[in-house]
This record gives sequence, C-alpha cells and structure tokens, in this order.
Amino acid sequence: MTQVSTKTEQPSFTASVDDRIVEWFVKDKDEIIKRLVNKGFERRDVIERARELGLSEQFLKKCSHGNPDVAMRVCLGCSERFLSVGVQNRLCPRCRNRS
Ligand SMILES: [Zn+2]
Repeated sequence: MTQVSTKTEQPSFTASVDDRIVEWFVKDKDEIIKRLVNKGFERRDVIERARELGLSEQFLKKCSHGNPDVAMRVCLGCSERFLSVGVQNRLCPRCRNRS
C-alpha cells in the first residue's frame, strides 16, 4: 500500500489490536482500553471498532449463558477473521447464512 497520511501518525487496527479489543469487551478490562489509549487510539474509535467487529450488549448477553471462549478466529469458508464464540464456531455469519 502506498497511502500517505498527512495527519500525525495514527495507529491502525491490526489483528492483534482487534484481539485486545475483543478481550477488553468480553472481560470488561479497563486496563486494556487504557493501554490502547496510551498507544494513541481514541477511546471512541476503539468502541466503534468493537461495534464493527460485532461486539454489542446483545452479543455479550448471548455469551453470558454459553461458552465464553470468545476470540477473533479465521473463517474456514472465506479466511476472513471474525468474532467467534468458541472453537467450534469456525464460520463467519456470512458463510453460515450462505450454507
Ligand atoms: Zn466466512
């Protein structure tokens, strides 16, 4: 990619940052968001990113009475990373709906 940013360097949401966000949201760990903010992320952006990943109150409710092994996993159908609720959950919502 040859994108040149004119703004002051902003950290991007890499795969490992996504993992942190999931961890933060599911485990409600304030220190994680503090660490992300220290890295230069806006708290607002992190919350928005969490929403993009599929993290929501509704999602959390679903998790609370199931297996809480939530993590970003690679979809076996399209190889995209998606929010998975357990090791047995290996298809992203898009692929699941397709089959
Ligand atoms: Zn997929």
